[in-house]
Formats: sequence, structure tokens, C-alpha cells
Amino acid sequence: MSDIELLAASGAETAAMISSGEISAEEVLEFWLGRVSGDQLNGYLWKADNEAALAGVNVDGGALTGVPLAIKDIFCTEGVPTTAASKILAGYRPPFTATSVRNTAAAGMPMLGKTNMDEFAMGSSNENSAFGPSLNPWDTGRVPGGSSGGSAAVVAGGLAPWALGTDTGGSIRQPAGFCGIVGLKPTYGSISRYGMIAFASSLDQCGPLTRNVTDAALLLDVLQGRDPCDSTSVGIEGGVSAPSADRLDGLRFGVPRALIGEGIEAGVLARFEDTLIRIADLGGEIVDIELPHAGHAISAYYVLAPAEASTNLSRYDGVRYGLRSSDEDLLSMYEVTRDDGFGPEVKRRIMLGTYALSSGYYDAYYGRAQRVRTRIVEDFNTAFSEVDFVVTPTSPTVAFKLGEKTADPWTMYLSDVFTVPISLAGIPAISIPAGLAEPDGGGPELPVGFQIAAPAFAEQGLLEAAYALETAIRFDGSAGLAGGAA
Ligand code: GLN
Repeated sequence: MSDIELLAASGAETAAMISSGEISAEEVLEFWLGRVSGDQLNGYLWKADNEAALAGVNVDGGALTGVPLAIKDIFCTEGVPTTAASKILAGYRPPFTATSVRNTAAAGMPMLGKTNMDEFAMGSSNENSAFGPSLNPWDTGRVPGGSSGGSAAVVAGGLAPWALGTDTGGSIRQPAGFCGIVGLKPTYGSISRYGMIAFASSLDQCGPLTRNVTDAALLLDVLQGRDPCDSTSVGIEGGVSAPSADRLDGLRFGVPRALIGEGIEAGVLARFEDTLIRIADLGGEIVDIELPHAGHAISAYYVLAPAEASTNLSRYDGVRYGLRSSDEDLLSMYEVTRDDGFGPEVKRRIMLGTYALSSGYYDAYYGRAQRVRTRIVEDFNTAFSEVDFVVTPTSPTVAFKLGEKTADPWTMYLSDVFTVPISLAGIPAISIPAGLAEPDGGGPELPVGFQIAAPAFAEQGLLEAAYALETAIRFDGSAGLAGGAA
């Protein structure tokens, strides 16, 4: 067993090596902890040692026992620093562990560390982290995407075999696309949100970031399920199994042409069109569809998500968690703590959300955005009466340069144009690598993501289609893998 083989192995392949006795679970963990300690991507905010990695892990957890996992720093982990990449949670060590993390530990997966992210998952580039951005292993002058950018960077850069992330408006799919890996946002409600630090509760969803589609299926099966601690969790009936399809015969793929126009890079569009041809080669049918209200999704999302965030973030008051900046009177303690603790994007969202929910404006903004959301749900219902899947590029561009979009929040928000409508509809979607493309300004080629969305709880069919396509595309992620550690 060479280090190179272990580095390149997927989660499932690593599990097979362990169960065949080629390598022990102890050796696998030692190898990965060594990789983590060489992190050149600012991918980890906290790194486990051997003892911490194994705390609470079932050493007899079944088929995936011994395959270690990186965890976005938005999941509460008992006794382990959990910051959501915010200064306001400095020093916070939760007294409990998120259900998702408990489930992966019960399945035998050690925790390698907690990954970098945009503060409270607000962002598309990782540049909103209070601890500096994580870097893209394909080109460390570029962003890994966000908000689960640390999770994507460590998987793509050979600093973890797989990772957990969260997706509210695209935060698993977009960084997976930027880093050349697979990212799955499951149906809202399929995985418990208990212990996941809340951003926008009606949208937040946990999901896997992996080297391939099979790993996404295996990890989803471990994560999904009803949890008495989250009344919105229902699980996926029958669970999920490893996909095996090699054809797409009889399946209809809807393309919302009107949405895929302006602002999209030529190289991204070219890889998207190539992938449509592959779908047809595999027997699938390409159908033009309309999503008449999807063009309003960004506007609705940036009212609804901040509205929910402004409520969720009111709990950080200097009393209950982490930072306390002043000990004068109570009111100034709240004010000074929140002023010191929150970064500019989080403050922007709290202001937007508080305004949208204020009496007198509630119906004009929040109420109207909710009505748009309902229309978008109806658009997808109509589409799925004609097609099995809806496909788009994952993002309009490849990974952009650090600093390129920080001056203008609106251009940053536009990078979610294809992911946000799906989040508002609550349906599942996966991003798989569709090849490489040059950025519009020129430069070395970078990964392009292809997004496939399916009706609620149709994860198995989604994974089968993604698997067949992935097998046909044969994406090579080795340039990314080489970029993570010195
Ligand atoms: N980029 C989007 C935002 O900033 C989505 C983030 C997410 O999915 N958590 O809100």
C-alpha cells in the first residue's frame, strides 16, 4: 500500500483496503493526520490529534469503519472548539455533538478536524471567514468557493478523503464545483439539523463533499434519518445505496435555457454543452424547460435568508456563548460584543433581515419573498411533471481570484444564481465535475461543476444518473490532490 494510493483513494476504496487487511484503520488515521498537519490551504480551523479523532467513534461501526472525515466548523462537537468561523464564538466548546457527526462516529469514522468556512455560512468564497480564507488547491491564488470552502479544499487537496458541509443556497455544490469534487445537497429534511449552527433554518441542510458519486451515496446513507431532536427531519425512506447505473435511457433532462444566459463564462458554457451531449450519448433526452420565476430567486433568497439569520443570530449576546467584550452595563455589553464579534457580511445580513422583518415593511419584503418562493416551488413541480431532472452549470464562473468580488456583495451573490432556486424549492441537487475550462480572463484551466436536481426525496435516482455521467466523463482530479500539502 503506497501513500500515493491511499491519498488518491475514495472513502469507499479506503474502506475496502481496511476490510481486506491491506492496511489497518490505525495506519489510515496516522496517514491522514499527517496530511492534515501539512495543510497549506488554511483548510482546517482545528486539527485533531489521534485521541481527539477517535473520541466517541465506534471502532466496530460497519463497512466504513476507519475512514476518517473532515467536518465543517458549523457542526457542534462536544468539548472541541466550534466557531462557525466567527470571532463571536471564540472559546466556545459545545456540551453536545451534532446528530450528523454522531452518526458518522457511530459508523466508525474518526474526525480529522474542523474545516474553514465563511462566517456563519454566509458567503460564496470563504473570504468571510474571521480566520482568513481557505485556498483552492488547483490555484492557491483563487477561492475554493463557499461557504463550505474549507471542506471542499481539503477533499480536493488531499487533506481528507471526504467531508461534511452545509448548504443553504449553494454552499456545498458551489465549492465542490470550484474544487473539482462531488457535492450533494439532499432534500430539505432528509438529514437532521440538530447541532448544526443555524443560519437560515428553512434552507440549511447538511450534506457530503466527496471524491466521487459513490462516496456521496454512502455518506448520505449514514447521515440521513429521522431525529427526535429535529422535528423537520424525516429521513429518506428505504435509505440510499451505492449507485450502479451505466445508461440514462428513458430519462429526461430539463434545461432552463432562459436562466443560462448572461454572465456565464464561455468555458463554463462549453463544458455544460459537452455534458448535455454525453447525456444524449448515454440514452438520455434533453428537453428545454421554463422556470419562469427562477430569475427572482436571488432577490427572494437575499430577503428570506437574512431575515431568518437576523433571528437566529440574536442569541449571540455575550451572555450565552463565546466572546464577551465589555463588562459595563448590560446594553453596552450586548452592543460592544456584537460589534466586535461579527464580521461585516454578517452585520450586513442582520441589518437586511431586521429591516425586512420590521413592522410596516414585513409584507412588502418578507411576505413578497415568501410568495416568490412558493412560485419557484410550483415552477419545479411543473417542470418535474415533464422531466426527471433539471440540469444547469453549478456556477456561472470557475473559481475566481482572491479579492476579485469582495468589494461588491451583489456580484458575489450572483455566483449562486443556479444553486439558490433549488434551495428555495427544498429539492436535492448534486454537483459533479464536468471537466476543466479557462477563466474568461485567461489563465490555467480550472474545474467546472455540472448540477443535476431531482424531485424531493428522489436521491437514489439522482445518484444513479450522476454516477452514469461521472463514469462517462472520467474527470481527473490529480492536479488538485497535489496542491494541498507541502
Ligand atoms: N452564498 C450563499 C450565501 O451567501 C449561500 C451560502 C450557503 O449556502 N450557506 O448565503
